[in-house]
Amino acid sequence: ISASADRITNICCIGAGYVGGPTCAVIAAKCPEIRITVVDRDPARISAWNSDTLPVYEPGLDALVKRQRNINLVFSTDIDRAIDEAQLIFIAVNTPPMHHHTHVSSLGAKPDLSAVSDCARRIARVSLTDKIVVAKSTVPCGACATIAQMLRDNAQSGVRFSVLSNPEFLSEGTAVRDLLHPDRILIGGDDMVAQDRLKAVYMHWVPEPNILTMNMWSSELAKLASNAMLAQRVSSINSISAICEAVGANISEVAAGCGSDSRIGSKFLRPSLGFGGSCFHKDIASLIWLSESLGLPEVAEYWHQVLALNRFQIRRFVARILADASRGDGSSGLQGRRVACLGFAFKEGTGDTRNTPAADVCCELLRNGATLSVYDPKVSRHHIVDRLAAAAGTDCSVDSVTVCADAYSAIAGSDIVVVLTAWSEFRVIDWEQALKLMAKPAYVFDGQIVLDHDRLRQLGFNVFSIGHTHVT
Ligand code: NAD
Repeated sequence: ISASADRITNICCIGAGYVGGPTCAVIAAKCPEIRITVVDRDPARISAWNSDTLPVYEPGLDALVKRQRNINLVFSTDIDRAIDEAQLIFIAVNTPPMHHHTHVSSLGAKPDLSAVSDCARRIARVSLTDKIVVAKSTVPCGACATIAQMLRDNAQSGVRFSVLSNPEFLSEGTAVRDLLHPDRILIGGDDMVAQDRLKAVYMHWVPEPNILTMNMWSSELAKLASNAMLAQRVSSINSISAICEAVGANISEVAAGCGSDSRIGSKFLRPSLGFGGSCFHKDIASLIWLSESLGLPEVAEYWHQVLALNRFQIRRFVARILADASRGDGSSGLQGRRVACLGFAFKEGTGDTRNTPAADVCCELLRNGATLSVYDPKVSRHHIVDRLAAAAGTDCSVDSVTVCADAYSAIAGSDIVVVLTAWSEFRVIDWEQALKLMAKPAYVFDGQIVLDHDRLRQLGFNVFSIGHTHVT
C-alpha cells in the first residue's frame, strides 16, 4: 500500500458505540499528532457524544472524552468527509446475530454483517486515495477477505485498499482501563506495511511484545475463541455451583480451591446468574454457525452446551425462589408477592442491559404472578421498562413493575429481595433498616454472591445464595 504519508495522522472510525467511542478517546489521548473523527449514521448518538451526557457510561470515559474533544477527537455525522480525509478507517459498527435468539434450543447464528458491508461499499465509493481499512467489529472467519473483495469490486479506479483485522477485547465496565492496558493487540492481515502502520499507532502506549501480528483468519478466530472460552468458564463454575447446592460444598471455597492452581487461575470464576451482554451469546452463536458450516457438528454441540448451561442457571434460580417463597396458602406461585430486584445491568460497572440475565429472571417472576420493584444505579427507568417489555413478549405484562430511584425504595414493602447484578453498593445497604421496611418473613436470594449471608441470617432473613448449600 502507498498510503499518502508514512505515519498515520488522520483516522476515521465508523460506529460511535461502546467500542468506537472509548477506543477513539484513548487513541486521541495517547497519539497527540493524530486527528480522529468518530462518525455514526445515528445523529442522536453523535449529538450525545458532543453533549455533557455521553451515550455510554464507563469509569474514566467522561473526563477523557471531554478533554480530547477540544483537541483531536471529533464526533460527526459527516461520514463521507471523514472517510475522505482519513488514511486509516476503523469499522466498529454492530454485528448482531442474524436471527433473534431467546431460547437455548436455537443453534448457531450467522452474524448480520450488513452494517459492515454498508461501510465497505461506502468507503470504496467515497475514497479517492489509498486507505487502510481495519475491521474492529467482531466478524466470523473470512469476513475480512469478503470486505477486501467488496472494496476491490467497488473501488474508484487506481485506488487501493489494505484490509486488516484488529478485534477489540475491551470489557464493558472497565473499557478505559482495558484500552489503556490491553493484554494484547491482534493485527491480522497479509500487508506488512499496513500492519506496521497500525502497529505504530498502538506503540504510542502498548509495549511491542503485546502487539501480535498474524494472518487474518487467526486474528478473526482468536476473538471468537476468546469470548467463547470466557463464557465457558462462567458456565463451568455455574455447573459446579449446582452441585454445591445439592451437596455440602460452598462454591466460593471450591472456586478458591480450583483457582489457586496456576494452570487454572482465579479470574472469571465467580458464580453468578450467568453471562450477558452483547458479545458472548452472539460470538458463541457465530462459532456454532461456523462449526456447522464447516461440517463439524461435534464442535458446534460442544459450544452449544455453554449457552444451555447459562439458561439452566436462571431456571434453577427462579425455581429456588418459587420453592422457598411461594405463599404455601393455596395461592399460586408468587401471586401477591412483591419482589425487590436489585440490579438490572448485565454486570456491575455498566449501564448496558443487552442480554442481561436480570431481564430473564424478572420476566419469570412476573409470569409467576410477582409484583416487581426494580433498582439499578446506572440503568434508567425507560431502559428497564423497554428491555423488560421486549423480553416479556406477549405472555406476561410489565404493568406491575415499578422502577425505583434507590435500593431502599425498592426494598420497602417487599417480601423478597433478589440480587441480580453484582453492584458493590448492595453490600453497604443497611440491612437492619431494610429488614424493618420489608414484609415478614423476609427472603433474600443472592444471584451474584455479593452479600454477607451469615450476617443477614443473624438479622433474621431467610437467605439463599447461588452455589451454597440450601438451608431452610
Ligand atoms: P454499538 O451498537 O454500541 O455501536 C455500533 C454503532 O454503529 C451504532 O451507534 C450504530 O448506529 C452504528 N452503525 C451501524 N451501522 C452503521 C453504518 N452503516 N454506518 C454508520 N454507523 C453505523 O456496538 P458496540 O457494542 O460498539 O460493538 C461494535 C462491534 O464491536 C461489534 O461487532 C461487537 O461485537 C464488537 N465488540 C463489542 C464489545 C463490547 O463490549 N460492546 C467488545 C468487543 C468487541
